[in-house]
Amino acid sequence: MLKCEDCGRDLPEKEALVHKDSNGEKHIICPECFRKATGIDYKTFACRRETAKQTFFAVLFCLGATVYAFIEKGPLYGGLGILLTILVYLFSGKMR
Ligand SMILES: [Zn+2]
Repeated sequence: MLKCEDCGRDLPEKEALVHKDSNGEKHIICPECFRKATGIDYKTFACRRETAKQTFFAVLFCLGATVYAFIEKGPLYGGLGILLTILVYLFSGKMR
């Protein structure tokens, strides 16, 4: 059993969250205090992080395809690939 460092209540391990404060210090806190500290729900936070991860992989994939197109098809297709990568990046940014 852990304790929330903010409100002091007992916390099951699976609910415990690690929050970094503005000084960069890590604190074990409960989901409610997380919401108070950050202004967003932990689920929203986790969801945003997940979206960011997906964006990262999508962009990585596009970059890979771009390099491939550049080598296999020439600079024109490489340029299109870069354009596509930028579009994917902008588009997934908007969905957040
Ligand atoms: Zn708490």
